[in-house]
Amino acid sequence: MNLGPELIFHLKNLDILNAEPMLQDIIMAAWEKFGLDVVTSGYRPSDKGTHGTTPLRAIDLRCRDSVIGNHIAKWVNKRWQYDPDRPKMNCAICHDSGSGKGLHLHFQVHPNTIRIKNKWW
Ligand SMILES: [Zn+2]
Repeated sequence: MNLGPELIFHLKNLDILNAEPMLQDIIMAAWEKFGLDVVTSGYRPSDKGTHGTTPLRAIDLRCRDSVIGNHIAKWVNKRWQYDPDRPKMNCAICHDSGSGKGLHLHFQVHPNTIRIKNKWW
């Protein structure tokens, strides 16, 4: 029985349970559809942005390949719109923010975030 990936996922599950429901949907989709299972950052109390809100509005998942990461980000951004009033903002960003964390997928939501397509898997 291989509990590895699931165990890693669940060890950080507290942040997921405290996340906005729409963010939970995105994280679960990234897990089920693409197998992303390592949370590299969740709630950061001193963060002035989406990693510092309660409920939590941003979670990072490990992704070591920018081609795959950009594909996943595109898949998510086709299905969730961060804020219809600010169409350039995205729910998923594959980036290296330069903070020493390396490449990762940053997933975020806003109170205005909507599902933009009904298609699921
Ligand atoms: Zn992030």
